[in-house]
Amino acid sequence: MKVCPKCGLKLEQFYKTSMLGCENCYKAFAAELLPVLKKMHGKTVHCGKRPKVSGVERELIYEYKRLLKDKEEAMLAGDFDAANDMDEDIRQLSYELSRRGLK
Ligand SMILES: [Zn+2]
Repeated sequence: MKVCPKCGLKLEQFYKTSMLGCENCYKAFAAELLPVLKKMHGKTVHCGKRPKVSGVERELIYEYKRLLKDKEEAMLAGDFDAANDMDEDIRQLSYELSRRGLK
C-alpha cells in the first residue's frame, strides 16, 4: 500500500474519504489518482437521505459540490497546486456540513 512520504496518508484512506492530506499526496499518488478521478468524473455524488435544508445550508451544499467538481477538474488537468488550494476550502465546508448534520 502506497503512503505519502510527507504526511503519511495512505492511498487506502484517500479511497475511503476522497480527501488528501497534503500537496505532496497528489504527486505521491498521481498514478493511482488519475484513473480513479476519471472513473468518478461525471458520476453523480450519492448523498443519501435528504434532510430539510435552509437557504444558507443549500448554498453550503452547492458550494461544497462545486468545489469538489472544480478540484476534480483541476486534478484531471494536472493542476495539483490549484487542487490543493481547494482542499482547504473543501475541508472547511465539509466540517461545516457535518456540524449541521447535512453530511
Ligand atoms: Zn501527503
